[in-house]
Amino acid sequence: MSEFDRHPGGRPPHSHLPPDPALRVMALETLLVRKGLIDPSALDEIADHYANRVGPRNGAIVVAKSWLDPSFRESLLRDATGTVSSLGFTGRQGEHIVAVENTPDIHNIVVCTLCSCYPWTLLGLPPAWYKSDAYRSRTIREPRSVLAEFGVNLLQSQKVRVWDSTAEVRYLVVPMRPDGTEGMTEDQLAGIIARDCMIGTALPRLPEPGQ
Ligand code: FE
Repeated sequence: MSEFDRHPGGRPPHSHLPPDPALRVMALETLLVRKGLIDPSALDEIADHYANRVGPRNGAIVVAKSWLDPSFRESLLRDATGTVSSLGFTGRQGEHIVAVENTPDIHNIVVCTLCSCYPWTLLGLPPAWYKSDAYRSRTIREPRSVLAEFGVNLLQSQKVRVWDSTAEVRYLVVPMRPDGTEGMTEDQLAGIIARDCMIGTALPRLPEPGQ
């Protein structure tokens, strides 16, 4: 018996799902709203909050502080959840955060192989590529190639550590402070720490002269 013979109409039930994740989400949302299980205005409120009011700036402030203050860094690496909550960065999808630090020998990159778990309280909502099948499967299998496609070319001597987020644990990558940033303020440093640096798919960069 083939896979298709088991289902009336010749198609397995999951093949009725639209292939595009956005359409799938819409179909699921419509169903949940229709059944009265969720309130669409509450969903809009959550999305607006994390998309527009919480963004990667929170994470950038945390990283900048860790570059400037050795005791903050030590505290962040020991207990990231407690340390970031002392700055007021608490809430949904940020209940248990672990900070992982890049060093000259180790580069860290974060993925959620199952879905799209992500530290919302520090980085806002995840980018679309973070949720893509390609990123989720390839980052585990061939992290160096994925990093190269993002423009991060590691030395052969550098190890890559891939962290698989779960609903329980979210990771924050603490990138290395680049040379030439001596004397910069916390605010200026935060300005060079882009979202992707804290996922591990970019490195902090100084602005080009004149920018
Ligand atoms: Fe997930």
